[in-house]
Amino acid sequence: MERSKKVIFVSHCILNQNTVVPPLARAKGPYRDIIDAILDYGIGIHQLPCPEYRHLGLKRKPMTKEEYDTEEFRKLCKDIARDTVSIMKEYLDNGYDIVGLIGINDSPTCSIMGTKGILMEELLALLEEENIELNLQDVPIDYYDGEEGKEFIHRLKEFLSNLNKI
Ligand code: SF4
Repeated sequence: MERSKKVIFVSHCILNQNTVVPPLARAKGPYRDIIDAILDYGIGIHQLPCPEYRHLGLKRKPMTKEEYDTEEFRKLCKDIARDTVSIMKEYLDNGYDIVGLIGINDSPTCSIMGTKGILMEELLALLEEENIELNLQDVPIDYYDGEEGKEFIHRLKEFLSNLNKI
């Protein structure tokens, strides 16, 4: 079987809402509509680690970016960012396309658009150093599978279908 050689990087909780701070989970497991849309185009999904889970586990409370921004958490995010960039380089060096990176809007750790989360600050800075340009997107703050997430899914599908024409 020919592989697509296309990979998308996603924040951990897009595939697993079980790591989200308890009151903020928006699905039982994955965001099914987002994952289905990606699978329909034969794109591999590379899941980033969840830094907040690693740092404070499942019983953590909702916290702001300022509260998370300690030396220890920054180091954890820097380490994850370094590891992620080396994984990305391995794909790129072997002729794979990284079609994008999807974060979680308004997360103190994984937000890409607007105020960046701590992991994404570290990751985007390293990507810039390495001259790696990616299509960046965030799952909107009010996203839910189904009718409420329809607009985001439409945008995502439009983006994915254009990739296949390249
Ligand atoms: S830290 Fe990132 S991956 Fe983990 S729950 Fe928050 S937004 Fe999702």
